[in-house]
Amino acid sequence: MMPHLTGFSRAELAEIFSELGEARYRADQVFRGLHRRRLQSFEEITDLPKALREKLSETATASVLKVESKYVSTDGTRRFLMKTHDGFPVETVYIPTENRDTICFSSQSGCPLKCDFCLTAKLGLLRNLTVGEIVEQIVTVLNDVYGIGEETPHGTNLVAMGAGEPFLNFENLINAIDIMSDEDGLFIVPGRVTVSTAGIVPKIYEFAKLARRPNLAISLSASTDEMRNLLMPINKRWKLDDLMQAAKAFEKTLKRGERFTFEYVLLGGVNDSIEQARALAALLARYDLVRVKINLIPHNPAEQLDYHPPEPERVAAFKNELESLGVSAYVRTPRGRDIYAACGQLAAKAGSQ
Ligand code: SAH
Repeated sequence: MMPHLTGFSRAELAEIFSELGEARYRADQVFRGLHRRRLQSFEEITDLPKALREKLSETATASVLKVESKYVSTDGTRRFLMKTHDGFPVETVYIPTENRDTICFSSQSGCPLKCDFCLTAKLGLLRNLTVGEIVEQIVTVLNDVYGIGEETPHGTNLVAMGAGEPFLNFENLINAIDIMSDEDGLFIVPGRVTVSTAGIVPKIYEFAKLARRPNLAISLSASTDEMRNLLMPINKRWKLDDLMQAAKAFEKTLKRGERFTFEYVLLGGVNDSIEQARALAALLARYDLVRVKINLIPHNPAEQLDYHPPEPERVAAFKNELESLGVSAYVRTPRGRDIYAACGQLAAKAGSQ
């Protein structure tokens, strides 16, 4: 395959260009073309001489994802189903809110983890996405929403909460986030990015050491090993105690005013009782975790899944119990459920419910 230049940092491009005998500023022009102007072909980078554009088109590529279909929810959420050059599905979701956009991107095609409540799990792991495939998801979505090369009117937040386990594609994910933070490119700073992990414990320690790192979310969804083993089999590899110790070590590296998140998928009749809310608060207290917030995600159902969301009153009661015990808790409003775009619904499905 020809190299996909969207997956290279400004420094890497400069090196490639110098090997080709091209000037450094040409590399900068290409970087700005691909990222700041969000062009997906070399032909459109018109500040380059025609001969260089032709040479690049023959030896490299500026786009490796093809949009197969796009679904638009009644709430404005858009789901993009794309394909890699070798035919694997990649899903990305655009979620507009009043004063910001959120793009939920995928780190893998499919997912190797077998979380029992998640539809993506049914695909299994198809393959890791490359750096360029991660970056191009965001480029493609922004171009669809705002037009090629047009300014984005307000800040874009990114969440690595699409298909896949980001910490099982750690290096590509971190390199992609680095490239997207470049002020000569998309300029989405790490503070606007959140990475969600199901609990790949050694990678939490590695992540904690990064100098410029995004925000962290850890999917918990249970406060006993017994329950978590059932819901998230990764818990058999790294037990709750391992995970909570890693979380505590991570908390110690937070800067002033920063917090991190635990996600808790609320499954009706399974993990949504008042006693379980108390057990969750007690778990946090046991590890002295205080700079955390809990994101409660009412389950997004799908035909192949045996779970259902709790009634809204139960969700509210769970949240109130946590708050009364001094734990900040937020309920994530489901977005794009009608087009299979909500959390845990990405399974390369065509169409809508
Ligand atoms: N693999 C990573 C990131 C992807 S999932 C992780 O597990 O964190 C993003 C969030 O959606 C996770 O917190 C996951 O637990 C949650 N989720 C999965 N399936 C869901 C469903 N059907 N309904 C609601 N949330 C779900």
